[in-house]
Amino acid sequence: MKNLVVLSGAGISAESGIKTFRDSNGLWENYRVEEVASPQGWKKNPALVLDFYNQRRKQLHTVHPNTAHKILAELQQFFNVQIITQNIDDLHERAGSAQVLHLHGELLKACSERDKSLILKQKKDIKLGDFAPDGHQLRPYIVWFGEEVPAMEEAVQIARTADIFLVVGTSLQVYPAAGLVHEIPENCELFIINPQESIFSFSKNANFIRENATSGMKKLVDVIMALR
Ligand code: NAD
Repeated sequence: MKNLVVLSGAGISAESGIKTFRDSNGLWENYRVEEVASPQGWKKNPALVLDFYNQRRKQLHTVHPNTAHKILAELQQFFNVQIITQNIDDLHERAGSAQVLHLHGELLKACSERDKSLILKQKKDIKLGDFAPDGHQLRPYIVWFGEEVPAMEEAVQIARTADIFLVVGTSLQVYPAAGLVHEIPENCELFIINPQESIFSFSKNANFIRENATSGMKKLVDVIMALR
């Protein structure tokens, strides 16, 4: 089986009803990104940050995987599909994708404020005074701006194995994730689905499909199957 490696971003979940923040003037569900997605924001107002991610976690109960997530799961019958996602939702998993690497963390996990490698499953709200086994405050298991991306090394290794590399629903503006495009092998087929252009859209070996994730995936599926 050929290796189909997918880099997905907030745009793939937009049609499931989870907003991207890059399309909302830098606001994430009406919050400034620095307030809710940075170590400084956490230090300044941890209650607000916890509340923000508690709301995002609750929202998972009201949304469902869309056609784009589902097509990627179906392609597992024909390809070794490895998904590298910047999303913190669980919609790839719920669609049935078995190999999903989360670059920016997961809403359904928490970690110790002191030791981010101390990770727990988290279904309920996190409150101030909820402690990790090391006695320190629990925080959302999310990679905030300015923090290291622990899964990056593994993502690079996966990108280097790609026969086909598909970028869907990401602006390719958030580094180091965007740098994965530079890691793919020279003879690898590169497809990009996004309603907006990025600096990579017209690079010489990119096949740019200017569509939303669901319509773009429907168009692309026959092209990808022909590469089997
Ligand atoms: P981003 O930089 O990946 O930008 C979103 C991209 O989605 C844009 O390029 C936009 O053109 C594209 N897009 C919008 N609607 C689309 C659609 N229907 N189909 C396909 N593409 C579409 O992501 P961001 O929103 O700037 O968020 C940055 C980070 O914030 C993420 O990497 C993630 O860590 C976090 N975030 C996660 C979620 C989620 O888990 N669903 C949602 C928002 C933000």
